[in-house]
Amino acid sequence: MQNNPWERARAQLKNTAKLISLDSLLEARLGSPDRVVEISIPILLDDGSVKVFTGFRVQHNNIRGPYKGGLRYHPQVEMDEVKALAFWMTMKNAVVDIPFGGGKGGITFDPKNFSEGEIERITREFARKLTPIIGPNLDVPAPDVNTSPKVMAWIRDEYSKIVGMDSPAVVTGKPIEIGGSEGRTEATGLGGFYTLMELLNLNNRGHKDMTVAIQGFGNVGSFLAGYLKEEGFKIVALSDSKGGIYAPEGIDVVAAEAYKKADGSLSGFVGKDISSDEVLTLPVDIVVPAALENAITEKNALDIKASIVLELANGPTTIEADEILRAKGVTVIPDILANAGGVAVSYFEWYQNTHDEKWKKEDVFKKLKEKMDSAVHAVYDAHKAYGVSLREAAYIVALKRIATAAV
Ligand code: NAD
Repeated sequence: MQNNPWERARAQLKNTAKLISLDSLLEARLGSPDRVVEISIPILLDDGSVKVFTGFRVQHNNIRGPYKGGLRYHPQVEMDEVKALAFWMTMKNAVVDIPFGGGKGGITFDPKNFSEGEIERITREFARKLTPIIGPNLDVPAPDVNTSPKVMAWIRDEYSKIVGMDSPAVVTGKPIEIGGSEGRTEATGLGGFYTLMELLNLNNRGHKDMTVAIQGFGNVGSFLAGYLKEEGFKIVALSDSKGGIYAPEGIDVVAAEAYKKADGSLSGFVGKDISSDEVLTLPVDIVVPAALENAITEKNALDIKASIVLELANGPTTIEADEILRAKGVTVIPDILANAGGVAVSYFEWYQNTHDEKWKKEDVFKKLKEKMDSAVHAVYDAHKAYGVSLREAAYIVALKRIATAAV
């Protein structure tokens, strides 16, 4: 059951509710999403055949503001996954203290098997059917796994046509020239970097030559790798869905990205080829799951050798694995804190759109650092005050803020 992300999310809620004696009505409100929508997407494919795709949008909770969360295009997308991801968005937005609730959505398909024209038709049909339930003050989608600024641009266009009014703030993560924010693409990786650095500072730990292995070399993993390398960390392993590489002498991240772009995979770039899961159990200081849920389970948690797990993916660690890591003394920096940089800058984008402003990248990064540092301090204080893990502390911070807004 613990590999079911929604069951895990509910267990996390129940555990923290007990720790802070959360009001039972509020616990019940958060224990189920406000609304779940399943969407049928029939499309004419390039070969003239018709295929019906299934999409979802889950609006978990809007006590603190409009529902907010990404859209994922992946063959594993299913309702319980989307419900969990929406729940984690409610918690994350509260941890980083932005005025949004939580939502999430997706379509069950692998975009790698479809042409750009087909992906556009799928997205536009999805957007048309989402239109009655999204909007700048209602529910604001964003990119997630396999969805890009271009996908957001199609949704914005479709939504604006239907409501008869240009509405850039209906989605975030747009291309900059049509209302996207400077710094949004880098934001999740950069926010993870700021989180790690601030926690190391609070623990008076240096980081020179610390070694890092990263699972997932997409948007989030690649930016994090770049920032860590710039700061003097040594990136020794990287992986994507096709496999990984391990080079104890260190990896040139920029060159690895160019190689992957040209070759389609990391395989053969440098060092030795390993499987994408092996990346997690290498002898390194920091391991970063930055791909999908359930990367660290009871099957591999005992083999983790790192002293720090920086969760940039959503829900990468099962509850059993979390307990094993805790018993081993591994510090887990939880997803709802570590990867909140993306939604923080999404909020900045939404704010710029709704106030007709355009901020410079350095201002965005400065505000992001302030947001992340303040979230890290709130979580760290709760961790000390309650004598709980950073994950439990992050939930305590989130639930207390939601409870304050619910009154
Ligand atoms: P992406 O699509 O850009 O990249 C995903 C990467 O994971 C790709 O490199 C893919 O090849 C790799 N991958 C997939 N399955 C894998 C496997 N089994 N082993 C190793 N690698 C695998 O997506 P992204 O935006 O970088 O998102 C990554 C994670 O971060 C997701 O869990 C997402 O929910 C989370 N996240 C993303 C954002 C954001 O702003 N993009 C914000 C918060 C959280």
